[in-house]
Formats: sequence, C-alpha cells, structure tokens
Amino acid sequence: MREFNAVVLGAGGVGKSALTVRFMRNEFLESYDPTIQEEYRETVVVDGEPTLLEVLDTAGAEQFTALNEIYISAGRGFVLVFSLTLEASLREVTNLRQQILRIKGENSRVPMVLVGTKLDLTNEREVSPAYVAELSGRWKIPVYETSAKRDWDVTEAFEDLVRQMRQY
Ligand code: GDP
Ligand code: MG
Repeated sequence: MREFNAVVLGAGGVGKSALTVRFMRNEFLESYDPTIQEEYRETVVVDGEPTLLEVLDTAGAEQFTALNEIYISAGRGFVLVFSLTLEASLREVTNLRQQILRIKGENSRVPMVLVGTKLDLTNEREVSPAYVAELSGRWKIPVYETSAKRDWDVTEAFEDLVRQMRQY
C-alpha cells in the first residue's frame, strides 16, 4: 500500500482541526483545543485504491514559522485552509503558499488544495465565490468550499490531494 503524508496549514480558528477530524474520523468538533497539534493515520480508499494517509493538523502556525519550515520540508502534500467567514485568513494562506514554494522549489509541482471552510455560515460569509475562483486560477490550485459541520465537500478536497500525491 502506498503511503503519503499531508500537512494542514492555516490561521488559528479557521477550522483546520474540524476539517481534519471530519475527514479522518467522520465527526464534527464543536470545540477543540486550538493549541493541540495532532497527527492522524488512516487507510483511505480513493478511486478504489487503498492508501495509508498521515495527516498533520498543525496549530499556532502564525507564531511558529520556524516550525512551519520543518513541517513543510517533511510534508508531501498540503491543505491550505482559510475561512470563508474571515477575509483576513486569506493573508495566512498567501504567506504559507509562498513559503511552501520557496522550500519545495518554485518550479516543482507540489500537491496542494485550497480549502475555504464554514460554508454553512451563509450570513457570515466575507469571501466571495468569484474571489475564491480567481485565487484558484491564479495559483493553479484546486479550491473547495467546505463545511466540516455539514460534511460538505470535505472528502472531495482530501481525495483531490491524494490523487495529486499519487501523480507527482
Ligand atoms: P483551527 O484552530 O483552525 O483548528 O479551528 P477549529 O477546527 O478548532 O475550529 C474553530 C471553530 O470553528 C470551532 O468552534 C469549530 O467548531 C468551528 N468550525 C469549524 N469548521 C466549521 C464549519 O464548517 N462550520 C461551522 N459552523 N463551524 C465550524
Ligand atoms: Mg486546531
């Protein structure tokens, strides 16, 4: 069985843990200690092929950029997470993407997905679908608008990443 590791990165509170736990454990976390960093290992079946997936749910990304360097160096694929309800959280994914490209090499194809969270909080939405689509196009990264709470498009986002990790 092939094995891949992925790193979930993004600003605090955007829903990294909820997203990870939704996919790896199929549960929704109403509250999760924001300082806890956890690694999950599961066999997932994507397109009929079982794969051992290790996912690192990072915490406190902003303050510890030196640690980020270590995770990025060790990571094969990346889930860049922002909240659709917090425009400011896009700044963090912008920085993280640059950091990833710097560490992995500007010209290498790095498996990545961009994930907007909390799609169910319709009235709190701050980031327009058009802007999300524009970013995805500009960065050439597939984007998923998700809800860990409602289980919308979470599986699709991780499966996309697994397919990319198989390919390059
Ligand atoms: P992290 O700091 O990025 O790991 O964020 P958490 O996963 O701890 O989530 C922060 C808060 O947002 C928690 O109260 C979660 O329950 C909430 N949350 C996360 N994802 C969703 C979602 O899809 N919908 C809603 N309504 N709340 C969410
Ligand atoms: Mg967390």
